[in-house]
Amino acid sequence: MSPVPSRADVVVVGGGPAGASVAARLAADGREVVVIEKKRYPREKTCGDGLTPRSVKALLDLGMAEEVARWHPVRGLRAYAGGRCLELDWPDHPVFPRTGAVVTRAELDMAIADRARKAGAVFVEETEATGADLADGIVRGVEVKPKGAPATTVAAAFVVIADGSLSRFGRSLGNARDRRFPLGMAIRGYFDSPRDDDDYIESHIDIRDVHGRSLPGYGWVFPEGDGTVNVGIGLLSTFRDWKGVNTSELMDAFTHVVPRYWAIDPDAGRSIRGGKLQMGMSVRPRVGPNWLTVGDAGGVINPFNGEGIAYALETAELAAQVLGDALVRGDGRVLWQYACELDRRYAAYYRTARGFVRLIGEPRVMRLAAQVGMRSHLIMAAVLRVMANLLSPELRDPEERVYSLLERVVAIGPEP
Ligand SMILES: Cc1cc2nc3c(=O)[nH]c(=O)nc-3n(C[C@H](O)[C@H](O)[C@H](O)COP(=O)(O)OP(=O)(O)OC[C@H]3O[C@@H](n4cnc5c(N)ncnc54)[C@H](O)[C@@H]3O)c2cc1C
Repeated sequence: MSPVPSRADVVVVGGGPAGASVAARLAADGREVVVIEKKRYPREKTCGDGLTPRSVKALLDLGMAEEVARWHPVRGLRAYAGGRCLELDWPDHPVFPRTGAVVTRAELDMAIADRARKAGAVFVEETEATGADLADGIVRGVEVKPKGAPATTVAAAFVVIADGSLSRFGRSLGNARDRRFPLGMAIRGYFDSPRDDDDYIESHIDIRDVHGRSLPGYGWVFPEGDGTVNVGIGLLSTFRDWKGVNTSELMDAFTHVVPRYWAIDPDAGRSIRGGKLQMGMSVRPRVGPNWLTVGDAGGVINPFNGEGIAYALETAELAAQVLGDALVRGDGRVLWQYACELDRRYAAYYRTARGFVRLIGEPRVMRLAAQVGMRSHLIMAAVLRVMANLLSPELRDPEERVYSLLERVVAIGPEP
């Protein structure tokens, strides 16, 4: 275990994709960065392990082309809904590549942490950040408790909160999730499958049990390329029937109805675990006098599709830019630019996404949308662009129609 340094320019709490990539970027610019991570790499993280072209782009921007090339590539999404199936390739886009990937989080997160270490960041593993050393609202340091060693404090000019969903560290500084915003609940597990090298990630937008009864939530099967598939189910707090749903039972029901070609044994799942997804920019404040939140700690998961890795990496990139500036000027007020830039980039899109998930929370609306949409490859290709946030810079038909329609419908409903 690395000794705990006594100070740093920036202390990052949490070494997931958000924290490790902030560290990689700041360290590459010559900053002294310490990452406090409570687990030891490689460590498991409950996730679907799916990387859309948006995530792939963010990883390429971090200089991780070699690593990405080792992971199982996927060319798009196979969508099941309304009794139909469509294979939708990732769209052509001037910015995002036409490929996604699937990789376990043990491997992905360790790869990003390795990149940060090579750039000069210090990782203190098996060490928990237990609180902030506060004076006049400013965080002077992060109190840490290494496993098997006494507690100590790492002094910091700036602190990045990157400890993931339901961030305890963030809450200790007054961060809170707006409970009116949608919250996701999801469970996943690993199953052996001969089709682990499928070209598509697969999503079941409406699911039924073995007796044909409709179930709340959606399901997925993501091929890992290593002899296994990641199977999971998700549920949103906006779904009319979500209260009282036992997600483990839902997961069990789904594993019994996944298409036969996956050839999974529904009773032989491993590492079946669940987690909560804070979405739609639901956590505030995002910035304090000398700290900011990135990734899940800031609730930036995309409500349209539950994707969080791309947004963890993107918020980290923005945060690193602003922190670099703040360090040069020695002035924390620059951090407010981060909050403004997040709004500029995501607020309108996330408002539409939140409205969309409220709308489809009504099972009849969901069924109707699935039945209409799934009749047309063109419409569903546009829906994929919208939901994966791969819209072209100048909205084109038919994606424009789909997105504008959603914006208008959503504007009728109440905020948020
Ligand atoms: C079931 C499920 C399926 C999902 N599927 C997908 C998917 O397929 N694709 C996708 O893009 N997103 C998916 N997500 C969302 C995705 O997992 C998150 O958005 C992503 O992990 C966010 O990264 P992060 O770095 O912000 O947080 P995390 O990955 O949660 O990292 C936080 C880190 O902080 C550490 N930590 C926590 N507290 C402390 C502390 N006090 N001190 C020190 N360290 C601490 C943790 O150990 C962890 O390493 C899914 C989520 C769930 C729950």
